[in-house]
Amino acid sequence: MERGIAVVLGRWFRRKETPDETGERLSEQSELNETESNDQAQADSEEETGKGLFARLKDGLAKTRASLVDKIDGLLSSYTAVGDEFYEELEELLIQSDVGVGTTLELVADIKAIVQSAKITDPADIKPILQDKIHDILAKNSGTIDLAKPGPTVIMVVGVNGSGKTTTIGKLAHRFKNQGLKVLLGAGDTFRAAAIEQLEVWADRVGVEIVKHNAGADPAAVAFDTIQAGKARNADVVIIDTAGRLQTKTNLMQELNKIGRVVERELGHGAQEVLLVVDATTGQNALAQAKLFSEAVHVTGVVLTKLDGTAKGGIIVAIAAELNLPVKLIGIGEAYDDLRDFDPDGFVAALFE
Ligand code: GDP
Ligand code: MG
Repeated sequence: MERGIAVVLGRWFRRKETPDETGERLSEQSELNETESNDQAQADSEEETGKGLFARLKDGLAKTRASLVDKIDGLLSSYTAVGDEFYEELEELLIQSDVGVGTTLELVADIKAIVQSAKITDPADIKPILQDKIHDILAKNSGTIDLAKPGPTVIMVVGVNGSGKTTTIGKLAHRFKNQGLKVLLGAGDTFRAAAIEQLEVWADRVGVEIVKHNAGADPAAVAFDTIQAGKARNADVVIIDTAGRLQTKTNLMQELNKIGRVVERELGHGAQEVLLVVDATTGQNALAQAKLFSEAVHVTGVVLTKLDGTAKGGIIVAIAAELNLPVKLIGIGEAYDDLRDFDPDGFVAALFE
């Protein structure tokens, strides 16, 4: 399916070079500027039509590959025998790539056990074992977005400011629209006018409808109206944006909880998807955020954004291993097609090969 979409999206192909390393939005103005520069980047991308999706995934993971896999290669070639020192260095490398201490220790313990039972003596033979183990962790904790029939499928998108919620919604809207589905967006981040405008820009650009209230309005009321409109207009997919200012943590969690209750009342069940968007460049913070949001809403899956902007993409292993939540989508850039279904096979191949 990915490849089919690739053809349609070909003209949007491009590669983003300077990633946003910060987790928080700086100001409303910068948010709008981003949007404008995206349009330019989008236009620039039209030259890159020939590039395969796999190659672009590889590009997106280039920083992590350099910091993790290339260094592992270096480690493997610098040792002639497998011993304590080797394992310590391997642990260090994994932790530096944000795989997480707990997950790293488990991974290395598993590898040690295999090395012993298979009587492996050549460090070079360890790479495929590590690759397999990482693949196992990711495969056990991955998932896809399933659409409800009949619709509408309601997707609620949560996460801290700057994690990439609105961008992810724009990319998702584009994907669904290209599949011939009717998409409706709900501007549930009512905290700032700029947040509403940003979603509007995406709606216009993608060509889907949006339900919005004024800044300061009750986000739950926006959710209510969006679902009502979604039903009335026979939308297939309703995607609700939310605010993410962690400064007012308790309020935010109450607000999300309230939106969740409105959705439940209107649908007769919870949103089919509550996607938690986390920014890979924030490393271990992403894990802490995930735990926090999971307490307030029933998160059904994780979207890990900005993998293209970090050398610490190992965080995906920590998220998969420690959160007990499936990773469903990954962001590898700012263009429309830089949102991918998370496919552990393709991911591990792109990282290691
Ligand atoms: P929100 O506050 O959670 O809604 O976050 P936004 O959607 O406004 O995104 C914040 C910034 O991150 C914007 O500049 C986006 O273009 C950028 N962004 C989002 N996803 C990605 C990604 O996968 N890769 C890169 N490089 N940038 C991204
Ligand atoms: Mg936003």
